[in-house]
Amino acid sequence: MSTEKTDTLVVGAGQAGIALSEHLKSHGIPHIVVEKNRVAEAWRTGRWDSLVANGPAWHDRFPNMEFEGCDPDGFPGKETVATYLENYARMIDAPIRTGVEVFRAERNMGRPGFTVETSQGKVEALNVVAATGAFQHPVIPPVVPEDETVTQLHSYHYKTPDRLPGGAVLVVGAGSSGAQIADELNRAGRKVYLSVGPHERPPRAYRGRDFCWWLGVLGLWDTAAAEPGKEHVTISVSGAYGGQTMDFRRLAQEGVTLLGMTEACTRGVVGFRDDLGTNIAAGDASYSEMLDLADAYAARNGLDLPQEPEARAVLPDPDCLTDPIRELDLKEAGISTIIWATGFRQDFGWMKVDAFDEKGRPRHQRGVSSEPGIYFLGLPWQSRRGSTFIWGVWHDAKYVAEQIAIQRKYRAYRGPSVRQMVES
Ligand SMILES: Cc1cc2nc3c(=O)[nH]c(=O)nc-3n(C[C@H](O)[C@H](O)[C@H](O)COP(=O)(O)OP(=O)(O)OC[C@H]3O[C@@H](n4cnc5c(N)ncnc54)[C@H](O)[C@@H]3O)c2cc1C
Repeated sequence: MSTEKTDTLVVGAGQAGIALSEHLKSHGIPHIVVEKNRVAEAWRTGRWDSLVANGPAWHDRFPNMEFEGCDPDGFPGKETVATYLENYARMIDAPIRTGVEVFRAERNMGRPGFTVETSQGKVEALNVVAATGAFQHPVIPPVVPEDETVTQLHSYHYKTPDRLPGGAVLVVGAGSSGAQIADELNRAGRKVYLSVGPHERPPRAYRGRDFCWWLGVLGLWDTAAAEPGKEHVTISVSGAYGGQTMDFRRLAQEGVTLLGMTEACTRGVVGFRDDLGTNIAAGDASYSEMLDLADAYAARNGLDLPQEPEARAVLPDPDCLTDPIRELDLKEAGISTIIWATGFRQDFGWMKVDAFDEKGRPRHQRGVSSEPGIYFLGLPWQSRRGSTFIWGVWHDAKYVAEQIAIQRKYRAYRGPSVRQMVES
């Protein structure tokens, strides 16, 4: 098989790869985007059926195209998001090749660039960009032995309530995925236990503006790094059912039993930390802080937004919060399924390059790695809080493309002697 050559090889055609293609094109940089599945595959098959975007259509999009036929303040479904990204790729005529998996990328010796082995032959590229996503491999912590008589699955593999075995469900993790899945199962009539860890829960909307707008005007999307100690604090938001604030007291009122963090399982009995009260209180504090910041911003700027004192009302504490359950016998509680909404890990095993630290994490600055010619896109906190979101990755892609263009200029420099030869 012959080896194909290109300037920049982009691996992954999710939102990150598509956004980068647009910016590379605007710099006139030849490139190819390879995708092992389909364009925006994660939005097609890597989500549960009813998932809608966490942000409204006017916000969770690229700057150069709106969602067609969607209420700008509504929350598009996952298929609509996937179609949007496909249409975007078509609009910019992105050179995407689907069904092409990258197995290995290695620096060339004695000549510039990298040799990349793919399922359709070799590619030589001066730059390689990993746009392979932050949410690649589902992670299930080794807490409950697999031989227990419960079905265990990751939120990545959850699709609909009726595809689970009958019986009660323990959902572990109350970030956006866990909280939404617990809510959906509860509405479907299942008995649901929800194990709640540290989280933030912004108001869905306040004083007539969605929290995406508030985060924007307050400059919080652009925060460069998670506050020390809050790196593992998840954010619990939802666009489901028209968009509601994630309120764990409301979920409990509707029948969900809240639990502290899941920490162990011995002979079918699962133990929970005594941290439910602390986690709920910290979530409440993050909620109130957001209202305070919003009020202060509105006052400072003289914004004529309706007051909303009822947003500060707090539902009564449910029994499961005042007297938390510390142990649960799975069989006695009738729990047939555990859904782990416990996050993902990335996989850069195919990159045989010097761009990782001793823990295998990308060593980079805003996506520009420590190995010249290797770039990352779509990493959590790549440059800011918004880096993994649809609109945020577009801005990171712009920066990465600029850096590639700058290096291209250096490479094109020939020096005075060569210039004189050409001119004479
Ligand atoms: C449940 C959930 C809900 C989310 N909701 C929102 C939301 O509402 N709004 C929002 O802005 N963000 C949301 N996100 C975050 C983010 O927008 C998505 O995860 C998005 O899919 C990330 O895009 P990406 O392009 O970085 O990665 P991905 O979409 O994962 O794309 C990476 C692509 O790389 C391909 N790939 C991987 N390895 C290889 C290889 N070796 N060779 C070739 N191809 C490869 C994969 O097949 C994949 O298609 C959500 C995330 C999750 C998990």
